[in-house]
Amino acid sequence: MSVNLRVAVVGSGPSGIFTAQLLGESDRVDAQVDVFDRLPVPYGLVRYGVAPDHPKIKSIVGAFAEVLADPRVRFFGNVTVGNDISLAELRNYYDVVVFASGASQDRRLGIPGEHLSGVSSATEFVAWYSGHPDAGVERFSISGHTAVVVGGGNVALDVARLLNRTPDELRRTDMPEHVIEAIASSGIRDVRVLARRGPVHAKFTNKELIELGSLTDCAIVVDPVDLELNAEDQEGAANPLVSRRMAILKEYADRGSRGGERTLRLEFNTRPTELQGDNGHVRSVRLARGQGDDISTTDVATQFVVRSIGYRGCELVGLPFDEHRGVIPHREGRVIVDEEHLAGTYVTGWIKRGPSGVIGTNRLDANETVTAIVEDALTLPHARSEKSGVDPLELLRAREVAVVDWNGWLSIDQAEVELGRDLERARVKIHDRSEMLNAAISR
Ligand SMILES: Cc1cc2nc3c(=O)[nH]c(=O)nc-3n(C[C@H](O)[C@H](O)[C@H](O)COP(=O)(O)OP(=O)(O)OC[C@H]3O[C@@H](n4cnc5c(N)ncnc54)[C@H](O)[C@@H]3O)c2cc1C
Repeated sequence: MSVNLRVAVVGSGPSGIFTAQLLGESDRVDAQVDVFDRLPVPYGLVRYGVAPDHPKIKSIVGAFAEVLADPRVRFFGNVTVGNDISLAELRNYYDVVVFASGASQDRRLGIPGEHLSGVSSATEFVAWYSGHPDAGVERFSISGHTAVVVGGGNVALDVARLLNRTPDELRRTDMPEHVIEAIASSGIRDVRVLARRGPVHAKFTNKELIELGSLTDCAIVVDPVDLELNAEDQEGAANPLVSRRMAILKEYADRGSRGGERTLRLEFNTRPTELQGDNGHVRSVRLARGQGDDISTTDVATQFVVRSIGYRGCELVGLPFDEHRGVIPHREGRVIVDEEHLAGTYVTGWIKRGPSGVIGTNRLDANETVTAIVEDALTLPHARSEKSGVDPLELLRAREVAVVDWNGWLSIDQAEVELGRDLERARVKIHDRSEMLNAAISR
């Protein structure tokens, strides 16, 4: 016999949806799952992080939609847990509350001048080009000839690549029109990606690195000096993935800066030490280049700097938080306070393990959490009948929160396709929250 469970999942990104899916697949529990998201739309960073020119990766939303459309699952979009409804209210109604709220904050470089305008985080820039409702339309005006992207991971390469896409290529994505106009009309012709360490330690994948080579009219510039490895790095380069990376970089270095109106430079062993400004706007960045005692500094003129040095989770009221790692402390997915499980609360995804891994990693992660939920449901006295709380939907309606349910999202989805049709594009994202809400209720 299976145990009935009422479950709230906070967050409709990959980890939240995998959690709902795995609970639905379990034959040991019969779970009714409500998935909350603070945005009127589902899918978290698949919609607002994964690069718009990577439609294949984004196509996973087809499988995610099947999970959310299941009659045993309800989607409550436009509901911020901790604001529109409290954790205590959720715990009054649900047997299980799973936090899958991701890591939406950014890390800072901690160097002088970071406050200057023209300097932003990848978190903000990615949100803006992805049409996130919290990112203002006017947030970015991209000026100057040179853009500097600080970071050696895939997100830094996404930013650098998108700044180099042609308007035609951008129009094949679902980016909002104002974003395409801003990128297309920018005078950026030189994008410099700064990685603190050498190429052996780079975090980006070979797939993303190879993709740079197919950018239209753009030369990928790598300094051969960066590919000279010390004894320790040579050991690291024995790893097949790293040796492939080195081979790709060597090909770029051999090609030199031939064949491009634009350049995208991959600069290793290079870090910014200071940002200088004029009238509050960034004017140049001081770079320290080299290793050990052999460091040289140069100033590079730029009016546009993006730091892409990692995402970080933020604290939720009523839950413990590890400030240092930016995650909720847990044991196999069970939220832990003073070494004890905070009964009925669980965690999964980036807010559980930090911002690492690909979309599929969240499935393994959700599996661990769901295993813990099922184990606890079967072994601990579960008191669904004693839950006296009111259905959250009633509470939210009484508070006049404009909840976007699954049909509401389907209406927004349809409105985006129609907007695309009007602009002769496959789809164009609606970026304005009130427009989204209007679309959700108008059908
Ligand atoms: C720029 C970028 C590009 C990426 N590209 C790729 C890629 O190409 N391929 C790949 O495999 N992976 C990629 N990833 C990684 C992938 O997106 C993550 O692994 C995944 O999204 C993490 O899932 P999550 O569910 O933990 O968090 P998220 O996807 O962030 O989902 C969290 C959700 O919780 C919601 N939420 C937060 N707080 C609350 C609250 N209080 N109440 C209600 N809802 C709340 C948020 O709105 C959000 O929808 C990328 C990540 C980034 C940042």
